[in-house]
Amino acid sequence: MALTKAAVAKAADKLFDKVLIANRGEIALRIQRACREMGIKTVVVHSEADRDAKYVRLADESVCIGPPASAQSYLHVPAIIAAAEVTDAQAIHPGYGFLSENADFADKVEKSGFVFIGPRPETIRLMGDKVSAKAAMLKAGVPCVPGSEGSLPDDPKEVVRIARGVGYPVIIKAAGGGGGRGMRVVHTEAALLPAVTLTRSEAQAAFGNPMVYMEKFLVNPRHIEIQVLADEHKNAVYLFERDCSMQRRHQKIIEEAPAPGVNQRALVRISERCADACRRIGYRGAGTFEFLYENDEFFFIEMNTRVQVEHPVTEAITGIDIVQQQILVAAGRKLAFRQRDITRRGHAVECRINAEDPITFAPSPGRITSWHPPGGPGIRVDSHAYQNYLVPPNYDSMIGKVIAYGDSREQAIARMRIALSEMIVEGIKTNIPLHQELMVDDKFLRGGTTIHYLEERMAKRKQG
Ligand code: ADP
Repeated sequence: MALTKAAVAKAADKLFDKVLIANRGEIALRIQRACREMGIKTVVVHSEADRDAKYVRLADESVCIGPPASAQSYLHVPAIIAAAEVTDAQAIHPGYGFLSENADFADKVEKSGFVFIGPRPETIRLMGDKVSAKAAMLKAGVPCVPGSEGSLPDDPKEVVRIARGVGYPVIIKAAGGGGGRGMRVVHTEAALLPAVTLTRSEAQAAFGNPMVYMEKFLVNPRHIEIQVLADEHKNAVYLFERDCSMQRRHQKIIEEAPAPGVNQRALVRISERCADACRRIGYRGAGTFEFLYENDEFFFIEMNTRVQVEHPVTEAITGIDIVQQQILVAAGRKLAFRQRDITRRGHAVECRINAEDPITFAPSPGRITSWHPPGGPGIRVDSHAYQNYLVPPNYDSMIGKVIAYGDSREQAIARMRIALSEMIVEGIKTNIPLHQELMVDDKFLRGGTTIHYLEERMAKRKQG
């Protein structure tokens, strides 16, 4: 789209010379491509397990920062900062997962004299604690899921009283939670206190923060999220919504934009609120406001202060390169467009391709003996995999994403079906057969399935 190219060209004069990519897998490759297009050199840090990765070879420089275990490599802050120092990088892109939403890391990056490609550390801290995030959103006029005001008190009687007020079923969530972990649904009062105790201890172990809070458990919501972009100069825009309701264990597997059948007026209203909230909290960079949507109403659940796995569906319909925008804004640029300049066209669907058994979901790492990615009109494949690539057992099982774009939802889905049928991955198991099933599923084709649909469907298959 002319808009973005112009923005990129205009900015090309004094951007960073070199960006360090503190991530791995497909997003490391994605960030690298964005940098190369902008004429920025890249440094890739990697663990011993990722030594042979394609993007490591393509990088201008690479630094091995430790053994396969994430704690000793991709989460090892001193090693990453040292790599930026020795390679003379000016900025660090954290991708998603790993350190991307770690405020202390962002702080360390900035204090070490590098630019963190993301929001300011204070903003990450505010939004990273889901309790303070909800409080900030309520203040900004963004509606939230009803629940406890702040974190739950220690007094069991108080907890019982709060739950009665909210009404069962409720969900107990870790304030510091993420990645679909640290959540427990409670249907009866008898189960409440044990669930709170268990979630607290899990939260302490997993996130180092025992605080939990309570929300009404919405029985049939969809997951709809709003993509935003904001600069340091108080400009903020929204890039419309994505529907990420197709989930298993709170993990998304299919995403699409726009969200089919959502009340347009409610959407515009909530999107404007999100952009407004960005201006109020002084947000900088790309971000996502996640909502549950039920009976034409939106309820905020959390904000992700980073690029999302599913960002390509938004890129497909708006023509805006979100990763390049992150870099431009981090360099202090003003957004080169206003809300009215942003238009969307067509429909996009993304399938996350995981190295896992399509029925049991057991991870299936190992060597890819045969790799034929699909192509053709409207198809984008973001993957670091290749023939002979060894999928390491140490990390997330996602090996890539297929994104299909079309003039209509029907065309995007038809193209996705063709893409999946062309795609060959041998040597490991993948969830491609599951995606193929879903791309002909009546309810998915109608659009508007809820966050419980996939699990209900799989439970039926087991019985049947
Ligand atoms: P995480 O940060 O771990 O991704 P979220 O708060 O974003 O956690 O929630 C992840 C998913 O959990 C949501 O997409 C939804 O499927 C489910 N969920 C969270 N809160 C609720 C709720 N109040 N009612 C029903 N489902 C919920």
